[in-house]
Amino acid sequence: MSDTSDDCVFCTIVAGEIPAEVLGSNDHAIAIKDLNPQAPFHALVIPHDHHENAAASAAADPASIGHLVSLADEVARAAGNADYRLIANTGSGAGQTVFHTHIHVLGGSSRMTESLI
Ligand code: AMP
Ligand code: ZN
Repeated sequence: MSDTSDDCVFCTIVAGEIPAEVLGSNDHAIAIKDLNPQAPFHALVIPHDHHENAAASAAADPASIGHLVSLADEVARAAGNADYRLIANTGSGAGQTVFHTHIHVLGGSSRMTESLI
């Protein structure tokens, strides 16, 4: 593990080196708008520290996941979405394309009532 990775797009966003639309932050993470939204409300909650996925973040610091979920709830509610879906793709076989932990926060779509599982 390392705190940052030079070739990681989310590390560069956390460092403020490339622009992103920031929706909120806490001491541990930032929430930004997804560049390619899949729902009317689509945020990404990204921890400051670089780990490959949510499980790796949890292994390094179990409390880190709680900080992400709290921020996800805050930005979803601030945008008027008390009902929302959290997704943490883990591994390319599950659709993960950026290998820095992030939680998708999706809301505002009638498709939200469809079950995935
Ligand atoms: P995943 O497929 O779960 O790894 O999700 C990566 C997400 O990051 C995708 O939904 C992308 O649209 C989003 N994304 C990639 N680069 C950026 C960026 N520079 N700003 C905002 N969202 C991004
Ligand atoms: Zn990173």
